[in-house]
Amino acid sequence: MTLTEKILARAAGKATVTAGENIWVSADVLMTHDVCGPGTIGVFKREFGKEAKVWDRQKVVIIPDHYIFTSDSKSNRNVDILREFAREQQIPYFYDVIDNPNGRWLFDAVKGDFVRQFGSHYAGVCHSALPQKGHTRPGEVLFGTDSHTCTAGAFNQFATGIGNTDAGFVMGTGKLLIKVPETMHFRLEGKLPAGVMAKDIILHVIGEVGFDGATYRAMQFDGPGVNSLSMDDRMTIANMAIEAGGKNGIFEFDAQTQAYVDYRTKLNGTKSTYEPAERDRQETFFSELTVDLSKLEPTVACHPDPGQRKLAKEMGDTRLDRAYIGSCTGGKTSDFLDFARIVRGRKVVIDTFGVPATPEIIRDLQTTYWDDKTVWQLLLDAGVKMTENAGCAACLGGPVDTFGRMNAPLKCISATNRNFPGRMGHKDSQVFLASPMTVAASALTGKVTDPREYIC
Ligand code: SF4
Repeated sequence: MTLTEKILARAAGKATVTAGENIWVSADVLMTHDVCGPGTIGVFKREFGKEAKVWDRQKVVIIPDHYIFTSDSKSNRNVDILREFAREQQIPYFYDVIDNPNGRWLFDAVKGDFVRQFGSHYAGVCHSALPQKGHTRPGEVLFGTDSHTCTAGAFNQFATGIGNTDAGFVMGTGKLLIKVPETMHFRLEGKLPAGVMAKDIILHVIGEVGFDGATYRAMQFDGPGVNSLSMDDRMTIANMAIEAGGKNGIFEFDAQTQAYVDYRTKLNGTKSTYEPAERDRQETFFSELTVDLSKLEPTVACHPDPGQRKLAKEMGDTRLDRAYIGSCTGGKTSDFLDFARIVRGRKVVIDTFGVPATPEIIRDLQTTYWDDKTVWQLLLDAGVKMTENAGCAACLGGPVDTFGRMNAPLKCISATNRNFPGRMGHKDSQVFLASPMTVAASALTGKVTDPREYIC
C-alpha cells in the first residue's frame, strides 16, 4: 500500500484497502474556521439536533483566520458564532480573536490595518496554526473545511479539505465515507540550488501534471531529495497539492518530522502519541515522476491558473503593479527571511504587502536581529507594508477593506497559492504565483525578476 492507503486502512480498521474502494474512516481531528464554521455548525444542529454534542470535543479545532481584520459586520459576526459554539460545546481548542469569552469581535478601523488587534489566544492562518499549536500528528486523519488542509500532509498525515455538509456529519459522528484515492508518486532527488525554493518545486510539478492533473489523487513526495527540505518546505509543497486537484499531498516520516511534532505537542500540551505510516516495499502508483531538484529554476505560475508555468528569467517583460508575501503557502518565518535576504538594504519600487501567517511568525520577525536591526524593521526600511494582523488577508480577496486586496485590475506577483480570476479581489486583476525570493526580486524591479540576479 502507499502511505495514503496505509493511513486510510488503519483509520477504517482494515488490514488493507485499494484505490477506488469506498470506506468509512475515523477522524482524528476536524478543523474549521470562520468562513465555513458557521455553515458547518448549522448543518450539525439541523441534522443532530439543537442540543447535540460534538462527537469528541478534544478533536474539534476551531481557528478563525480568514475575514477577521475587516469592518464587514457579517464577517465579524461569524467569529462570534464560533465563540458561542465553542462555549456551548466546551471546545478547548478554539483560537479566538479576542480574549473575553463573552465578548463580541469588532475590528477597529480607526486603529487601522498595521497595528495588532487580536488577543492572546489568536493563532492566525489555520494551516500554519495547526502544526504550531500541536494538532498535526503523523499517521492520523485530519479533515478540515478548507481546501488547503492538505498542508498537513507534510507531517505524514492524511489531511484533506471537506465541505460543510461532510464536516457537519464528522462533527456529529467522527466518521466519514470516502473513496480511497489513487496515488501519484513524485520522487525528489538532488538539492535545490541557491535562489530556488520549495515553492518552485511545487510550481514545477503542477506545471508537469496540470492544474487538474491530480484530481482526487494522493500526491506522494519522497526520495533522497526530501532530506534537504525543511518542514516549512514540505508544508509549502503539500499545501499546493490541491492546486493540481489532489485529494491530499503526503511526505514520509523522518527525524525532522518527529522533532517538529514532538516539540510542538509538548509545548502545547496536545496529544503526543502517534503512529507514523512507513513505506511498503509494494506500492501501486497511478503514475511516477522523478524530479531532480538541482535542475530547477525560479518558476512562476501565470494568470489564470496554477498550471501556467514559466521560468522567471523568461518573464522580464511582464510589468507588475504590486507584490504580496503571505498566506499558508508563503507567509512562514522562513519565507520572510528568504524574502528579506533579497530586499535587505534595497527599496521596493511597487506596492508590496507583507502578511505573516501567524502571531508566532510576527514574533519571530520582530525578535530576529540581523546586525543591529530586526528583520521586521529591515522589511519596513525596504518599503514593505507589514501588518501585525496575521491572517489570510488578501490571499482570498475578502471584503473590500481587506489589507492588500486588489480593488482594481492590477497585476500582482504573490507568494500565495491560487491565481484563478478574482482570487485576490478584482475580477480583472491578475496574480502571478512565485516563491518569496522571486516576489522579493520582482518587488525591487517592478517586473517579474529571477532572484538569482540578487544573489552574490
Ligand atoms: S492563507 Fe489563503 S490559501 Fe491559506 S487558508 Fe487563508 S485564504 Fe486559504
